[in-house]
Amino acid sequence: MEPIIKDSGKIKFSIYKKDRNTLARAGQFITDHGPVETPIFMPVGTHGVVKTLTPAELKAASAQIILGNTYHLYLRPGLEVIQGAGGLHRFNSWDKPILTDSGGFQVFSLSHLGKVTEEAIIFNSHIDGSKHKLSPEISMEIQNTLGSDIMMAFDECTSYPCDYETARKSLDLTHKWETRSKIHFDRLQPQYGHRQFLFGIVQGSIYADLRQESVDFLKQLDFDGYAIGGLAVGEPKAMKNEIIDIVSPLLPENRPHYLMGVGKPEDIIGGIERGIDMFDCVLPTRNARNGTLYTWKGRIILKNNQYRMDYSPVDENCDCYTCRNFSRAYLRHLFKIGDMTGLRLNTIHNIHFFIELTTKARQALMEDRFDTFLKNFYNNYPVEEDHWQENTIRREERRTKHMENNQNVSSSKK
Ligand SMILES: [Zn+2]
Repeated sequence: MEPIIKDSGKIKFSIYKKDRNTLARAGQFITDHGPVETPIFMPVGTHGVVKTLTPAELKAASAQIILGNTYHLYLRPGLEVIQGAGGLHRFNSWDKPILTDSGGFQVFSLSHLGKVTEEAIIFNSHIDGSKHKLSPEISMEIQNTLGSDIMMAFDECTSYPCDYETARKSLDLTHKWETRSKIHFDRLQPQYGHRQFLFGIVQGSIYADLRQESVDFLKQLDFDGYAIGGLAVGEPKAMKNEIIDIVSPLLPENRPHYLMGVGKPEDIIGGIERGIDMFDCVLPTRNARNGTLYTWKGRIILKNNQYRMDYSPVDENCDCYTCRNFSRAYLRHLFKIGDMTGLRLNTIHNIHFFIELTTKARQALMEDRFDTFLKNFYNNYPVEEDHWQENTIRREERRTKHMENNQNVSSSKK
């Protein structure tokens, strides 16, 4: 198919309502695969599938846009397979919008890193050890071939904790990479007849001055939307909110704001209050498979004995397929025997719930009752304790192990 003429205009984003007391807003942006009403939660389809769900089930959960991970799709099934199918939408039969990440985050966290220079990253696949190269230009080309509606600029995500000097250097590199991403993106033509948009990513770790500098720098590049990256990497919750409080008001108001990798229900509601429009997180899908279900009154851990003879639905106000048909006791039983149907039913409910968090917030904004919505949410939802210290220790252990593995890979090659 002949590529359409590249639209030099930006993504069409309209705001319909703004809350009186917070930065929350209800909006809508339009892609060639349809509109997305914001605020919105985006289910994560790492390998081109939201684990265990079909596109029909996603639509039944009111999903409007899903994610795909560039690193994973590039390695498996590989670009030629997706290009041969006519792009990711045709390949996985999801005809609504798709957002892809840049691949950078996974290269740093999953692969065995080889040479890392300003020019490019050489890495070995975590699957078979094969050698690959990723750069801002290559990331743009991969995402162009995947055919996502929204592409993300190539950046470096700092981990937590991160000292100022390291954050400073990383931000300079990120700005160079994002500039190259934008330049290369502007050169590419969409391959499948629909437009693609590019979002920039604000970095700067936990440092207010770096975050401000990052927003100023990226605004000049005039991206279609702006993401806040480098959060939800183990920092205390209060610190995360502080950074969002600094960054969000500085972002161009007439562009979608995306908080990457966030988060728990309270983080999503907190993000909406702070002017964020888009969220993604593996929590609802991953936890569904671990037997943890979310409700407006908190989490349900299915393995707990209290649900053995609990014949009520997961959430009596939820109208998902799972809640309309099955009891907690039955879901607990399926979980205990390790049945795959249970994993699917749990995922159906959790995805439904996370999307409903954002659609209910939107509805409240549209009807000028967001303050009551917030009050009800915080009165009923027990906010989880902040386990950031334990999480940091665990993350450090994983990172050390990852670095040891990397050293073993490079020394075994000598
Ligand atoms: Zn449900």
